[in-house]
Amino acid sequence: MQYDLTEEQRMLQNMVRRLAKERVEPGAGKRDAAAEFSWEQVDLLRENGLYGIDFPEAYGGSGAGMLAMAIAIEELSKVDASTGLLIADQELGSLPIMLAGNEEQKRRYLPKLASGEQLAAFALTEPAAGSDVARLRCRAVREGDSYVLNGTKNFITNGGVAHIVTVYAVTDPQGPPRKNAGVFVVEKGTPGFSVGKKEDKMGIRWSDTVSSSSRTAEFPEQTFSGATVTALRS
Ligand SMILES: Cc1cc2nc3c(=O)[nH]c(=O)nc-3n(C[C@H](O)[C@H](O)[C@H](O)COP(=O)(O)OP(=O)(O)OC[C@H]3O[C@@H](n4cnc5c(N)ncnc54)[C@H](O)[C@@H]3O)c2cc1C
Repeated sequence: MQYDLTEEQRMLQNMVRRLAKERVEPGAGKRDAAAEFSWEQVDLLRENGLYGIDFPEAYGGSGAGMLAMAIAIEELSKVDASTGLLIADQELGSLPIMLAGNEEQKRRYLPKLASGEQLAAFALTEPAAGSDVARLRCRAVREGDSYVLNGTKNFITNGGVAHIVTVYAVTDPQGPPRKNAGVFVVEKGTPGFSVGKKEDKMGIRWSDTVSSSSRTAEFPEQTFSGATVTALRS
């Protein structure tokens, strides 16, 4: 089996390695000590087209695949793991839309995420549900033309800075664990959505990890049709 990187992957690796050396490594220690989210680093990755590496070309990405994305994350994380995490979290927060969104949802969200114009966050973990997703408590209840989400999420990377958060919530409490939940795209500013305190960590400190990010959010039907990702029931 051949494990060598392709020429394109090597070019990407060299480009990101140089960028990391010149623009990420300087100030990395200070940023980590200050633990303040760096929009400068967000912009740097956007200007260099690094958010959309694994996004499909049809939605503004480069379609270069997950290995290429991992190469970029690796090179950035060698000098500042918080910067590398920006790409990883953009991917994680966007994957539910890529995998299960309908065409309208993909067109609405993915191009801005691929370009880095917007940031995404991924909200699965809860105070009582980390590795064990069967213990999810966040609920999504349909009320007339709306869905109401109620719950608290923990340790959400970019939870306080993201424009959209893909939130996992139980839609069918009687259903079998792990197959009873859906994913909802919660846009920043949705009524009832609030962000808790930022965690003080021992490393990767300027990355925005918030302890609770979703309380009660109501989605009118028209938002729901554009904002809800097809329930993941696999
Ligand atoms: C810096 C940081 C950023 C994070 N960002 C995000 C994010 O963006 N979005 C998000 O959703 N989450 C995020 N998390 C949460 C992270 O995904 C969880 O911490 C992780 O899933 C583990 O969950 P937990 O902390 O509740 O530990 P637990 O689930 O309690 O696990 C503790 C230990 O028990 C083991 N264990 C758990 N359940 C079982 C079982 N049934 N059988 C056997 N062993 C088991 C685990 O393997 C582990 O060793 C982040 C965490 C950190 C620290």
